[in-house]
Amino acid sequence: MIPAPFDYITPHTLDEAFRALASHGEDAKILAGGHSLLPMMKLRLANPKLLIDLSKISGLSGIRQDGDQITIGALTTHYQIESSELLKEKCPLLPQTARAIGDVQVRNRGTIGGSLAHADPAADMPAAMLALGAELRARGPEGERWLKAEDFFLGLMTTALSPAEILTEIRVPVSSGSFGTAYLKVPQKASGFAIVGVAVWLKVEGEVCTEIGVGVTGLDAKPFRARRVEERVQGRKLAPGLIEEASSHASQGAEPLGDIHASGEFRAHLARLYTARAIQEAAKIAGVSLTKGR
Ligand SMILES: Cc1cc2nc3c(=O)[nH]c(=O)nc-3n(C[C@H](O)[C@H](O)[C@H](O)COP(=O)(O)OP(=O)(O)OC[C@H]3O[C@@H](n4cnc5c(N)ncnc54)[C@H](O)[C@@H]3O)c2cc1C
Repeated sequence: MIPAPFDYITPHTLDEAFRALASHGEDAKILAGGHSLLPMMKLRLANPKLLIDLSKISGLSGIRQDGDQITIGALTTHYQIESSELLKEKCPLLPQTARAIGDVQVRNRGTIGGSLAHADPAADMPAAMLALGAELRARGPEGERWLKAEDFFLGLMTTALSPAEILTEIRVPVSSGSFGTAYLKVPQKASGFAIVGVAVWLKVEGEVCTEIGVGVTGLDAKPFRARRVEERVQGRKLAPGLIEEASSHASQGAEPLGDIHASGEFRAHLARLYTARAIQEAAKIAGVSLTKGR
């Protein structure tokens, strides 16, 4: 449980960090909260020669509203998200999701940027990012680009970030009108990671769902947006029969993972069940009284 020897630097600017990344290539790794990277180093699954700690670079953490968007710095911890009054009011899906992560120590150290860049298939935050249609800002020596959450996660622990880039912030829309959100998961007992987790954001007019985002994690090697479920619900009156039918499409297109914690078949079953429950919970929060029928 002792990592291989490594060097450690604390740049004060992004440019310094970019230079260090460029000069060390694949031997360098960004360090944020360290709660995924350090366990991997201790298990010798990652052996970087240089750690570039972002903690001394100002402007990379914090939560602020810019018009109809909320911007969250990549170094913002899960605890800061969980306890943010701004987010509780304007984007409650994020505090709901952050609360479900690990335990208090993990939430105090782990960062949103680290969680997204690491792209663990069982991480919670990616599901919320997908449901909200979040945008992620990647900066590198050549400039910057904004990536949609749906284009960011490419596969098992693989994202669209290039090795030269750093994820610096995340942008989510302010929720307004009659909306509801829910994040529900079946946690793996020891770590709390999601065996399956489903995030839902929806908006209603009366009992009709006018907009919906559904993000699923834990089921496949990469988190995904359950587009087929969204299509079945959007524009229709929310009712238990409709929600149940729509949720049966939750794993459509996915390749369910199987491991010692759950078979692929069981994960697919959980995805259907938790998609239905999360939509129901979000609908109730939005003020829809779910009466029987379709
Ligand atoms: C006991 C335990 C339980 C946990 N339970 C859960 C859980 O239930 N749900 C859950 O979702 N997570 C869980 N986690 C993971 C936790 O949320 C981590 O904090 C998170 O996944 C990684 O964030 P970090 O800031 O610690 O990143 P680090 O460990 O510092 O970095 C992770 C990876 O991302 C890269 N990276 C970090 N920041 C950036 C950036 N800004 N730009 C580019 N690359 C970057 C690093 O180079 C590294 O490869 C758990 C962790 C532990 C130790």
